[in-house]
Amino acid sequence: MTERAASGGLPVFDPPLYWSDLWPPVTETGEAALVKLYRSRRWTAFDAAEHRFAAAFAAHHDSSHGIFMMNGTVTLQCALAAFGIGPGDEVIVPALTWYATASAVRYLGATPVFVDVEPDTLCLDPALVEAAVTERTRAVIPVHLYGSMADIDAILAVARHHDLRVIEDCAHAHGGRWSGRALGSFGDVGSFSFQQSKTMASAEGGICVTGDPAIAERIFRLKHIGYAPGQVQRYATDRPPADLTCYPFRATAFQAVVLADQLPGLDARLDRYAEGAHHLEERLRRTTRLRVQARGRMASRQSYYGLAFMLDDPAYAGVPIDAVRDAVAAEGVLLMNCWGAVYDFQLFNFPPSSFRVAGPCPVAEAAGRQVLWLHHAYLGLEPAVLDRIAEAMEKVLAQAGRLGRA
Ligand SMILES: *Cc1c(COP(=O)(O)O)cnc(C)c1O
Repeated sequence: MTERAASGGLPVFDPPLYWSDLWPPVTETGEAALVKLYRSRRWTAFDAAEHRFAAAFAAHHDSSHGIFMMNGTVTLQCALAAFGIGPGDEVIVPALTWYATASAVRYLGATPVFVDVEPDTLCLDPALVEAAVTERTRAVIPVHLYGSMADIDAILAVARHHDLRVIEDCAHAHGGRWSGRALGSFGDVGSFSFQQSKTMASAEGGICVTGDPAIAERIFRLKHIGYAPGQVQRYATDRPPADLTCYPFRATAFQAVVLADQLPGLDARLDRYAEGAHHLEERLRRTTRLRVQARGRMASRQSYYGLAFMLDDPAYAGVPIDAVRDAVAAEGVLLMNCWGAVYDFQLFNFPPSSFRVAGPCPVAEAAGRQVLWLHHAYLGLEPAVLDRIAEAMEKVLAQAGRLGRA
């Protein structure tokens, strides 16, 4: 076996192949659109570019309304606020997610209730959601994580039974389709992020999609200091409802033109990612003991924020995950850590009285110690390059025992 770069051997990639050098996409059409916008001086305040992009994104996601915002955290906050969720209410969230899913609930003074995820998909476990419902539960936020999908049919069934609102956190799920229909259109609201690493990216940004015109109007007012859609700024014809506290949470036309340039290529890119993911998965199944995150079981087009791998085979017991990540990085490939359970995450600072862990969450907790994932930009590369990415991982994992014990 060849010597690992971390122990003085030759790296697989020299120079390193960083996903951040491959992503986001840079195109001539995007550049031309940005220059044109810059010269027009119509940088925001509801230039046609923002409307057009929001409408096109919503339509692509089988929704009649899109409300474009500054990030994918305020989208969750505004969706919850639009339903009047606040102090005393409980909102069920997966124990494994980016902590914004929970902090959005806290922002409104409501109580996030953490529920464990399924061991195969790493997404919210519908049976555990059912068990966590109390008379205070108002909503549930399934997250379609990395390269999988929450079982949205089962979650909708539980929600219907208990009269809960469903807000789909689709920050990883642009373009994903469950049984032919777009993720984000199953729940009452779908929330997407356009942060730099996401599958559509404009540095920062987010959007809510919905098929409910009344909720769309409430979310729009929440993000645009109270104005209703279509009102001319400074000429409000009515006041926002008294239960809404409205802020400027708008995004700009710069983000809209960048995203409008990415949207038409999204589906083809996801299909390419699926090919790349299958290629890697097939090979790594033969050459390593990694377990790959299961795809959404009804995925007719799988969305990919990344491809996640579990190092939960006994062969890797006790191998420190950071040492694996660092040794693969020395080979020139950047694998990323999974956050683990939200309530164990370094930035999670809420006092124990402000949230509830509905039951044991062994899967989410283990994920922090056992899951590494490959950014989606890698999945679009040629098979020959993917083989070298696999080689970098194989080289390190073949000698995993030498990486020390946790
Ligand atoms: C990225 C992300 C968000 C929102 O992130 P922003 O940086 O606020 O756009 C929400 N949920 C999940 C699961 C995410 O990964």
